[in-house]
Amino acid sequence: MRVPLLDLQAQYATIRDEIRPVVERVIESQQFILGAEVAAFEQEIAAYCGAKYAIGVSSGTDALLLALMAAGIGEGDEVITTPYSFIATATAISRVGAIPVFVDIDPVTYNIDPAMIEDEITNSTKAIIPVHLFGQCANMKPILDLAKQYKILVIEDAAQAIGAEYAGLGGKKPMKAGTMGDFGCFSFFPSKNLGGFGDGGLVTTNDEALATRVKQLRQHGGADKYRNTMIGINGRLDALQAAVLRVKLKHLDSWSAARREHADYYTKAFQKVAGVQTPATASGNVPIYNQYVLRAEKRDELQAALNQQEIGNAIYYPIPLHLQECYRELKYQEGDFPAAEQAAKEAIALPVYPELTQAQQDYVIETIQAFYR
Ligand SMILES: *Cc1c(COP(=O)(O)O)cnc(C)c1O
Repeated sequence: MRVPLLDLQAQYATIRDEIRPVVERVIESQQFILGAEVAAFEQEIAAYCGAKYAIGVSSGTDALLLALMAAGIGEGDEVITTPYSFIATATAISRVGAIPVFVDIDPVTYNIDPAMIEDEITNSTKAIIPVHLFGQCANMKPILDLAKQYKILVIEDAAQAIGAEYAGLGGKKPMKAGTMGDFGCFSFFPSKNLGGFGDGGLVTTNDEALATRVKQLRQHGGADKYRNTMIGINGRLDALQAAVLRVKLKHLDSWSAARREHADYYTKAFQKVAGVQTPATASGNVPIYNQYVLRAEKRDELQAALNQQEIGNAIYYPIPLHLQECYRELKYQEGDFPAAEQAAKEAIALPVYPELTQAQQDYVIETIQAFYR
């Protein structure tokens, strides 16, 4: 049985009849850049996330870049982040001329370990970028406390965590990913829980002035069409993407719930398998399982066995960011971040997409059980 890591065709089959008319609507309007479709999407997604402002942008990477630009972070500034993430988290920092300063992860959640952040704060530290990896919020309470104490910004990389909840701030309701810090950055890359038909991203914020800056910076830094107050980029969300995302947003919660059900089903089965460790959810967190990640003994052999049985899988992430060639000049070494380095050797992601069938899941489970027998 073939089980892909992600099956976007299966998802499209369930929404084809909703998607085609809205795409047609945009084509008939011939309004492709910003406009009513993007504005409507921004309102809907802001309400969904519980953020005051949402600004549609060209990708998750550009969302991070625009947040850093809007914060005025640049040459010589330092930004603290995790070494265990997609490369864009760090390269966005470098793009504005700032220096990424890595802090090791909590081996249980794979997210930045707040207890290790304070040691890395200097006079040059301007922001912390926690990443809500695999769909689970980082431990935001201690991060926000430190940020307040040292007057630095928090930019949440919520690319993998749209709709994920965190209850650790003590409010009446849990907070959604991307609404706790100064900025939230999201990606609509097709493999994210809310994926477009191409690239797309979003910046959220509760601060009107910061929202205005992001809006201007995504469109060349213009206060109005031909009067430029800042040096910006072309970083807008397309109307076609917005139209597709508006349809998909209506299904997002049920898709994420299906992912959680699949994750629970796996976890029940894998808890009885010596050789693997199942993912753990910190108390108060509601994850969205953008990835279901096991820690596996003999990980590379397991991967070969899965490949042979045509079971989709992926290693997120094989090389931690501090050991990437592009960061040679930062002079980090193997051994600097043991938890991230160990995760890079042991983690493996399994299919957990909403349309996955029980028969497919049973096949994945049986294959892994047989491997460790
Ligand atoms: C996907 C992703 C990004 C980048 O998003 P793009 O839309 O692909 O540019 C950034 N950070 C993390 C953690 C991601 O998973």
